[in-house]
Amino acid sequence: MSLDIPVQYVKGVGPKRATLFGRLGVETLRDLLYFAPKRYEDRSNLSPINSLESDTYQTVFCQVVDVKEERVRKNLTLIKARVRDDTGEAIAIWFNQTYLKNILKRGVKLYLYGNISRKYGRIEIQNPDYEIADGDETIHTGRIIPVYSLTEGLSEKIVRNIIWNTLNNYLEELEEFLPEEILEKYGFPDIKRAIWGIHFPDDEVTLRKSRERLTFEEFFILQLIILRRRMSLLKEYAPVIKVSRNLEKRFLESLPFELTNAQKRVIEDIKRDLASGKSMQRLLQGDVGSGKTVVAAFFLYAVASNGYQGAIMAPTEILAQQHYDRIGPLLSNLGIESALLIGSTKEKEREEIKLGLSQGKIPVIIGTHALIQEDIEFKNLVGIVIDEQHRFGVMQRMALRNKGASPHFLVMSATPIPRTLALTLYGDLDISVIDELPRGRLPVATYWASGEQRAQVYNMVRKLVKNGQQAYIVCPLIEESDKLEAESAVKLAKEMQEEVFPEFRVGLLHGKMGINEKEEVMNRFRNGDIDILVSTTVIEVGVDVPNATIMVIENAERFGLSQLHQLRGRVGRGSLKSYCILISDLTSEDARERIKIMTRTQNGFEIAEADLSLRGPGELNGIRQHGIPEFKVGNIIRDTRILELAREEAILLLKKDPELSSFERLKEMIENSPFTEFLSTG
Ligand code: ADP
Ligand code: MG
Repeated sequence: MSLDIPVQYVKGVGPKRATLFGRLGVETLRDLLYFAPKRYEDRSNLSPINSLESDTYQTVFCQVVDVKEERVRKNLTLIKARVRDDTGEAIAIWFNQTYLKNILKRGVKLYLYGNISRKYGRIEIQNPDYEIADGDETIHTGRIIPVYSLTEGLSEKIVRNIIWNTLNNYLEELEEFLPEEILEKYGFPDIKRAIWGIHFPDDEVTLRKSRERLTFEEFFILQLIILRRRMSLLKEYAPVIKVSRNLEKRFLESLPFELTNAQKRVIEDIKRDLASGKSMQRLLQGDVGSGKTVVAAFFLYAVASNGYQGAIMAPTEILAQQHYDRIGPLLSNLGIESALLIGSTKEKEREEIKLGLSQGKIPVIIGTHALIQEDIEFKNLVGIVIDEQHRFGVMQRMALRNKGASPHFLVMSATPIPRTLALTLYGDLDISVIDELPRGRLPVATYWASGEQRAQVYNMVRKLVKNGQQAYIVCPLIEESDKLEAESAVKLAKEMQEEVFPEFRVGLLHGKMGINEKEEVMNRFRNGDIDILVSTTVIEVGVDVPNATIMVIENAERFGLSQLHQLRGRVGRGSLKSYCILISDLTSEDARERIKIMTRTQNGFEIAEADLSLRGPGELNGIRQHGIPEFKVGNIIRDTRILELAREEAILLLKKDPELSSFERLKEMIENSPFTEFLSTG
């Protein structure tokens, strides 16, 4: 029998409950077996009735003496069962569950679990969970019991019963697929015992071992998928891109600054990849402001100088435009022309660009997802850069990659990803890190201010702007509605211009403006024609104006940590001392924690780690939103050690048997894993 039958056909489920289980992510019989409890309750210790203490939850094993129904008022009927064991008597009380009268007959033996109260020498158990003792095994009491995530229409008792029956009926169908050696090496229980043990463990040790094994298996499969994919990518050929010393020198000499050591190192990595004849698959990580763009420009320059085409895709029009404004002239100086293609590019110009790309007349194209529209074709696209990659869905990245035959691929991320997450999500890529900021950068002095201190904050802005510097004022985030956010931005800008800073030029930028309008505002800000820019989070990604030295963030508590860090990255980009002021009336513990972290550190990695543990991995980088499958048992924050073990073992196994030819069942598990589908498109 297949474990992949729909859960509907599992005994005790049926179509109605199957829909409910679907909401919990349980679609098949296998999912049901792997439906890990969210927590457990230890009801294994049976307490003698005479030892029961008030205000504790206890399990007792007892016998019914008699049952009474008591109608208190119209809508309240009590069922009171007198129960006893060898040590004493207690009263169990249920509200409005009159059917119990027919179940709890005199002499019936049962387990009760509930909150105890002792009143006037009487012992009461209110609304206890009960379980009739008819076999030697109990499901809901008298043991460590599983507690599952529920949805309306499914109770703990129903789910527990279904799982219990499913284990008894189908557990035998599960076949071991982990290598024997691994089970022995780590003392993992086999698959049957582990699945049993995660639902109905006999003790803490069994539970821990079962969880470890299932976590391992989940990570192990994922790592095998990633490593095998990496192996196949490494086999892909791509044109050799030659970078002569002269070519490199020309590039470096055209820059207004010297590269940092970290940037130089990454350029060496890229040169090595390009010379190899194999397709480059590289993730470039570098904190905001670390200077990733110039590295991307080098890559595009190298590709174009070799007669091929290069493309860089950015997530927003503002950012694409900014890249075009910077990379364009840089490459043009070196004799390489480029073009900009974004959603709002005029039709006529778009047609020209389209033609230029397909005929190979445009060597470098800079753009947004406008680049991946179906009718855009390249003559020989060989170099691809995805900037701020976490802003793109997997499909979009893939779509651009598919426009080249076998391209070299550079994805860039300003969200520093903790090592464990990087292994999980990008284990198939080579990783380069820019872990050093350009010389002369000062840390951004970050302060918290309450709403009442606004006047002081504005005075600070005033002082800096008087000195010829520029400021950002970031409006409160309104996640539910771009429209409301835009409106509040308009209002704030008006107030700033008319009431607070009449002597300065205040500009406004929000997501509802057209690109031309946005671009004009950004240009004026860049050229110093705007002193204070009131903006929504549209400036979050990549905007680079080194003369802006102070950022005020209104209602800072509404932003996530990574977002605050990205926003703050807009200042402190030159050699001037910069400030970030977080205005907030600290509404929650969580907000307080985030602001504390922001004022304490500038280190993107530290912030990402903190973000990960405050919000959970799903939300970081919008992982969930990008459709990355969730883990059933494992948790990449808690189970780092197992993740790393799983990776080591996966590497060892693939060394011994790259095709996994002696591990048929394991191969099957890999083929059926949701991660396979996910990664084959990424
Ligand atoms: P990010 O990594 O956030 O994309 P950018 O590439 O936008 O950062 O670079 C941030 C700023 O630092 C830009 O103004 C850029 O010109 C400047 N920059 C980059 N590399 C250096 C360097 N080696 N020395 C000085 N300034 C640099
Ligand atoms: Mg950038």
